Amino acid sequence: MTGQFHEPRVEAMYRRDIAPRVRRDSSVALCVVALIIGMLAISDYHYTGVTTEFYLLLTMRLVVVVSCLALAFLIGRFGNYHNKAWLHTLPLWILATAIILIVPLRPDTIPTQVTAMVVANMAFYLLIPNLLPAVIIASLYLNLGFLAAAVLVAEVPPVIALRIMLLLIMTNAVGYFALLRLERLQRKQFALLQEERIQNRQLVEEIAHRKSLEAQLRQFAEQDGLTGLDARRHFMARAETLLRRARLEKTPFSLFMIDVDHFKAINDNWGHRQGDAVLTAIAETCKRSLRPQDVIGRFGGEEFIVALPDTYPKDARVVAERLQQKVSELPVSEAMPNHRLTVTIGIAAVGDEDVDLTDLIQQADQALYLGKHGGRNRVVLSHEVKGEV
Ligand code: GH3
Ligand code: MG
Ligand code: MG
Repeated sequence: MTGQFHEPRVEAMYRRDIAPRVRRDSSVALCVVALIIGMLAISDYHYTGVTTEFYLLLTMRLVVVVSCLALAFLIGRFGNYHNKAWLHTLPLWILATAIILIVPLRPDTIPTQVTAMVVANMAFYLLIPNLLPAVIIASLYLNLGFLAAAVLVAEVPPVIALRIMLLLIMTNAVGYFALLRLERLQRKQFALLQEERIQNRQLVEEIAHRKSLEAQLRQFAEQDGLTGLDARRHFMARAETLLRRARLEKTPFSLFMIDVDHFKAINDNWGHRQGDAVLTAIAETCKRSLRPQDVIGRFGGEEFIVALPDTYPKDARVVAERLQQKVSELPVSEAMPNHRLTVTIGIAAVGDEDVDLTDLIQQADQALYLGKHGGRNRVVLSHEVKGEV
């Protein structure tokens, strides 16, 4: 019947949403109404001349104009539509009272006033933004007041009054249905907009969720779960890029293969968990000891691989020995009494020949193998193996 939402919460949300527009429209409408009411003083002068009625009408118009302008200002500044609906209704009561008061002051112009009443009714329903229930009550007051004044003060014959009443009922019916339709349409539009907003929000959340999943998946694919180092495939891709750049820029490039000595014994003697802890500690040592531009990967079980751009073999050896030293200093004696934690490192480096990453890895692996056979806990450089110091 009123076109409003059944749920008070949704209705309040709707009113809050349209509040800025209603405030602006109400202010503009009230300024226009003030202008029209003020200008009609010319018509008063034309009908009454400079008489007491004219001054009374002028005073009444001035009061209405000032009230309308003050309300336009107040509504524009503070007229929260959702919790101050009464402020928006106030102009209707002032205007209705003013229109009713014109009847006793200009009783001889009833036909003109009936026309003005039709316009005023339509304005109540359609031009002054307001809620349908408030408009209905204010219109009832306006129409009943006008009819009463017309019959009692202006002495309009009952038959004419009846015709005026029918005309006003028709005007109200048209206004009511027009506003009802408008209210319903606007709320339907709001509901659709809300639904769209919710869907958009869900979509944004879904995108964020997918992005985080994607990041997680990428992390799973690129990172070794235990040590946080690059997983083998990711390492290969990054190292390939570094090697390609080194070849292009003709800069040195070295590669380490690091293998923990007698690691199986650690697992066997102190359990897999301790084995894992050792692997994590060695990975941390690698991260701390190497430069940020060095790429470290977990190649397999207890084997690590490192790509060192801009590094000559002799410098790689120094770095490897330092790393070896750091690993041997890891505080493991408490967890693993009588065990010396050591690593063997095989180094390969890009020389004059055009080698690819797989060749380099193979060379480093061979050097590592020789290191193992030579007694472990050592650094072996593949160039030295080949006698190319
Ligand atoms: P070597 O000195 O010749 O390298 O001997 P090793 O015992 O270190 O080498 P081996 O290849 O015989 O054993 C490696 C062991 O590493 C076997 C495997 O069970 C263990 N291993 C592989 N991956 C993991 C892991 O993620 N965690 C633990 N705790 N152990 C692992
Ligand atoms: Mg191994
Ligand atoms: Mg080993």
